[in-house]
Amino acid sequence: MIKENIKRLLNELPEGVELLAAAKERNADEISEAIKGGIKIIGENYLNDALGVMNEVTEKAEWHFIGHLQRNKVKKVIDIFDMIESVDSLRLAKEIEKWCEKRNKIMPILIEVNSGEENQKTGVAPNDVAQLIKDISSLNYVKIMGLMTMGPRFGDPEESRPYFIKTRAIFEQIEDLHLPNVEMKYLSMGMTNSYKVAIEEGANLVRIGTKIFGERREQ
Ligand SMILES: *Cc1c(COP(=O)(O)O)cnc(C)c1O
Repeated sequence: MIKENIKRLLNELPEGVELLAAAKERNADEISEAIKGGIKIIGENYLNDALGVMNEVTEKAEWHFIGHLQRNKVKKVIDIFDMIESVDSLRLAKEIEKWCEKRNKIMPILIEVNSGEENQKTGVAPNDVAQLIKDISSLNYVKIMGLMTMGPRFGDPEESRPYFIKTRAIFEQIEDLHLPNVEMKYLSMGMTNSYKVAIEEGANLVRIGTKIFGERREQ
């Protein structure tokens, strides 16, 4: 089932669009099957979830942290993840810098944009993205590689389109600044419900859970 889902998705995605399997609440067997099915990037929202499965997943993949990251988890997260997609403050970036310097490791990150400007959501407000990126770009062990957004959740994916358009516009503005130590390579947006619209609006990394693994238990 998982393998067929991935095959269908990979056939459908345009060239240049990478597929991340959002693995929250999935076990090691499910994740292994996804990697065997052609997934190259696994996304986890929680450090403890990742620690619970990583040792059992023997197949090689890149691991991206995609959830809200608390500063007291950073030390561990930088040891086991290849990218952090959810950086939304200078404080958090500095904590990553601190631990990466000790490990002499450079951590690729994406800046999470709160494109819906929702109070309760994580991510930096659209108007503050450029300044945050300028500030973080001066750090030596953190490398900005693009933007990520969730956007508000809707039943109709068309309603997500304005938020993807807004995030892409910010992406291009930052690109035009040609900041040192900033490489605007990834625009991570779109989930099961919305990835088609996200790709139309410029996403080149989509994060898909349900359409790969099936419905989550909680839903
Ligand atoms: C769960 C999750 C996804 C994938 O959600 P689906 O709707 O199951 O595809 C993508 N990104 C993040 C940050 C998530 O937490």
